[in-house]
Amino acid sequence: MDTKGPQVKKYLNKFIVEPEKKVRLKNYDPGWAQNDTLKQMSEDTAQDLLEKMLEKDRAQLEQVQALLAASHQYSILIVLQGMDTAGKDGTIRHVMSGVNPQGCEVHGFKVPSAEEHAHDFLWRYYKVLPERGMIGIFNRSYYEDVLVVRVHPERMEELPKKFGPDSGGFWSGRYKDINAFEKHLVQNGTIILKFFLHISKDEQKQRLLARLDDKEKYWKFSTADLAERQFWNKYVGAYEEMLSATSTEYAPWFIVPADYKWVARTLVAEVITSAISGLKLSYPKVSDEQVKALMDAKQKLEAE
Ligand code: AMP
Ligand code: MG
Repeated sequence: MDTKGPQVKKYLNKFIVEPEKKVRLKNYDPGWAQNDTLKQMSEDTAQDLLEKMLEKDRAQLEQVQALLAASHQYSILIVLQGMDTAGKDGTIRHVMSGVNPQGCEVHGFKVPSAEEHAHDFLWRYYKVLPERGMIGIFNRSYYEDVLVVRVHPERMEELPKKFGPDSGGFWSGRYKDINAFEKHLVQNGTIILKFFLHISKDEQKQRLLARLDDKEKYWKFSTADLAERQFWNKYVGAYEEMLSATSTEYAPWFIVPADYKWVARTLVAEVITSAISGLKLSYPKVSDEQVKALMDAKQKLEAE
């Protein structure tokens, strides 16, 4: 069975976390100067260039999404994770703005409800996976169950003691469950693209302050975000372990530099478009017989 995973433009491979690699986030630059060409440009020129790329990608994404729907074989699952203010919502809005709304659905995941907590941790995500031909976007995902819940084990659902977080190997068990879950999806025609939007702690501070400087952004500010910021280092640890354990050949993680929103958006758009284009999909073939039936129909309509 072919579980090679998504094929993307060569230069994007450098953002993929190699399977089994031990991730240390301090080794990943969240800034904009991501290669020699960009480094030599002024920030304005780089932004201009990347925004033009994003424009092109959006147009291409609209076309390949139509093919994805028509060929009705694969589904695309896009997982977005990142610290608070990392830019998940904005990335979705900018990257998907050209796509036919009927071919794409976005699901955001908040604190689980009592009903959700009464089921296994994958249940609420499984229910809303994209069907064949569709692009599904998870704004947060089952990865929260090894991130926020890892940092705050008291927020976990109640499990039988012998299976709970104090039992040995609990977290590695969850990573294995996630890997098995994703492998199952891949083997059934889902292409999984996982993005960690990587921002620096200082950039988060600026973004939180921006929400307090602008009346129209007040609603975005949650005091909970400030509380979570106190756990920054714990989150970094949880992310590092998670990224190291769940980046696989069939469902790799991309670490996306996200201190500059236009870099993150363009990179995400580039990965999605090149992964879908790489499937080399075509419109369904029409047999001679079907062509004849279509032509008969045409004649009948014209004769009315
Ligand atoms: P937001 O994305 O700003 O709307 O916030 C959603 C909140 O839901 C965040 O604080 C997440 O940490 C929280 N959340 C999402 N999934 C889970 C989960 N599985 N367990 C606990 N909290 C979660
Ligand atoms: Mg929030």
